[in-house]
Amino acid sequence: MKALIFDFDWVIHDTFEFHRNKIEEYFEIDFSKQDLKDLSNWSIFSNTNGKMENADWDWYTNYIYSEYSVLEIDKKIKNTILELSKNYSLHIISSGWTRNVTEYLKNNQIHHAFGDILCYEFHKSKIAKFEHIFSKHKLNSNECLFVTDTLWDILEANEVWVKTIAVDFGYHDKELLETWKPHKIISNFPELFNILK
Ligand SMILES: [Mg+2]
Repeated sequence: MKALIFDFDWVIHDTFEFHRNKIEEYFEIDFSKQDLKDLSNWSIFSNTNGKMENADWDWYTNYIYSEYSVLEIDKKIKNTILELSKNYSLHIISSGWTRNVTEYLKNNQIHHAFGDILCYEFHKSKIAKFEHIFSKHKLNSNECLFVTDTLWDILEANEVWVKTIAVDFGYHDKELLETWKPHKIISNFPELFNILK
């Protein structure tokens, strides 16, 4: 294994309650846990429950920037990332916004641990982001592991033959994640060390 590729939201940082609160605040609506879960089975941008049909996510992302970028990373996650960065090249592919994710990483002093940070502006598809990382860093899919919390990410990783480690503390629960057969499901970051042994 040469490279570890991480999703950001709900993996490196549990932003569930943060987003739920901010969506309520910014769009001035009641937005329950279930509403956020129901937003879509496939992508947060496809709005299948109808509640966020005309949401302007670009303005939303600007609105959350100042608070999002200063969220404090969990110590165990930070230490695991720093330790892993000594032996593997680490990258992020996220559907979040570059400025928000980058500033978060800088404020938490882990920005230097990552090579590529490919977000929403780079491409909407994670497949395109995987392919960029493969060609830029001369990697085969079997030299990479992908860490994520969602079904749709597992599906995209499967398309490019990258094995997925799913985390069961994110957006989709364990039973759902199992349907797309990730390589492993973990409940905390340090478990990555065992998988990589
Ligand atoms: Mg995620």
